[in-house]
Amino acid sequence: MAIATVNPATGETLKTFDALNAGELEDRLVLAERAFQEHRTTSFAHRAELLHKAAELLEADQESIARTMTTEMGKPLAAARAEAAKCVKAMRWYATRAEELLADEAPDPADVRDSGAARALVRYRPLGTVLAVMPWNFPLWQVVRFAAPALMAGNTGLLKHASNVPQTALYLEELFRRAGFPRGCFQTLLIGSGAVEDVLRDPRIAAATLTGSEPAGRSVAAIAGDEVKKTVLELGGSDPYLVLPSADLDKAAATGVRARVQNNGQSCIAAKRFIVHTDVHDAFAERFTAGMAALTVGDPMDEGTDVGPLASEQGRSDLEELVDDAVHRGARAMCGGRRPPRHPAGWFYEPTVLTGVTPGMRIHHEEAFGPVATLYRVADLDEAVAVANDSPFGLSSNAWTRDAAEQERLVRDLQAGGVFFNGMTASHPGLPFGGAKRSGYGRELSGHGIREFCNITTVWYG
Ligand code: NAP
Repeated sequence: MAIATVNPATGETLKTFDALNAGELEDRLVLAERAFQEHRTTSFAHRAELLHKAAELLEADQESIARTMTTEMGKPLAAARAEAAKCVKAMRWYATRAEELLADEAPDPADVRDSGAARALVRYRPLGTVLAVMPWNFPLWQVVRFAAPALMAGNTGLLKHASNVPQTALYLEELFRRAGFPRGCFQTLLIGSGAVEDVLRDPRIAAATLTGSEPAGRSVAAIAGDEVKKTVLELGGSDPYLVLPSADLDKAAATGVRARVQNNGQSCIAAKRFIVHTDVHDAFAERFTAGMAALTVGDPMDEGTDVGPLASEQGRSDLEELVDDAVHRGARAMCGGRRPPRHPAGWFYEPTVLTGVTPGMRIHHEEAFGPVATLYRVADLDEAVAVANDSPFGLSSNAWTRDAAEQERLVRDLQAGGVFFNGMTASHPGLPFGGAKRSGYGRELSGHGIREFCNITTVWYG
């Protein structure tokens, strides 16, 4: 895949970039290692000062970086602004909280005595340079949610961003440098995915984090496993959205529309499978389909646009194939199911609701990465749980019920890294984020996220 900015709203190639050659890559690895040896000895207060500065600079750049993101991957401009604001918030959260999250831990005094020590403690030390392989869908946020805790922990980062967001990738390197982080603390590597293996195997790389598709995750984890290097994987999702009889249907439908089409439907934690109790199915389906059909599809730079184009031509044809396969096998499109005739250029697709989806259809088990919802009718809670769990993925889940017993049952039984009631899944700096099953392992954000790339060191004094 060429490293280039191609506007998904028009299909026009705006700028292309050369991949780093072997010498340039080596220079960056040398810099990263040198920077780590220095950065790991700095105080939390110093790192926090730099990260606060980065947050301040990003806040000032909000409009320009939002326009860059919209140009590179097509998300509506308002969503791009919100993404930049969320990054500012996460940077400030980690700048303020990292020292407390990574403070030395004192084991139970009885256990210390039992180990024969006069004193013992646990210290969170940085691991080294972490390779971050990142996707284009939240091109700023995915990187910041890795970089802010990694830098605060004393690690250094190398970013291999998706090939279609090079300008956002270069902006990030520049942002941390302008904030005062020494060169080498955070660098962007303009390389294709074929060059990842050599970087990952390099002894100067301590660990890797990957957010992206399952095949990419499997490849990076296999190589890292071979090298015995730690990985965190944030992969795909096909989150269930359960609607049960006690739900507020108006809110459930309106929130469901947002949860499905956020980021033009290209979010790992988008609600993708709508599983509705038969008692409220028809009333929900009517509201939800009306909401999906009423969305404005158009130029993501227009303030009135709800849904922009898909990020790539390939992404749109993958989505079309999933829908066509389902319709061919008997599913019905309640709305959408085609390219909008009004947008001949660009990679647009109409918001779509499919009913009659069965396990024999690809979309039942695969991730629909675009504005396509599947709607299931279930007889009771048992069937709702069974359909929700009938997926290789387990990122997050949503359920609309005000019944406490149902909520407890769902917390116990839904196979996912999150269970969100009466609202939609969203990430927050203070709450752990990550999946189960084929959605990956490890956690980002919160204290759990910052400790993933730490050497949990036992210190024992005789
Ligand atoms: P992708 O094709 O897997 O790309 C993600 C990154 O991995 C890109 O930088 C890509 O580089 C690189 N890559 C691809 N194949 C690779 C390989 N074999 N070895 C090493 N690196 C490789 O995914 P995408 O299409 O950009 O993103 C969509 C996917 O990401 C969806 O499945 C979505 O659910 C998932 N996602 C998950 C989360 C989460 O937190 N769980 C968040 C966002 C997105 P190139 O661009 O150069 O190919």
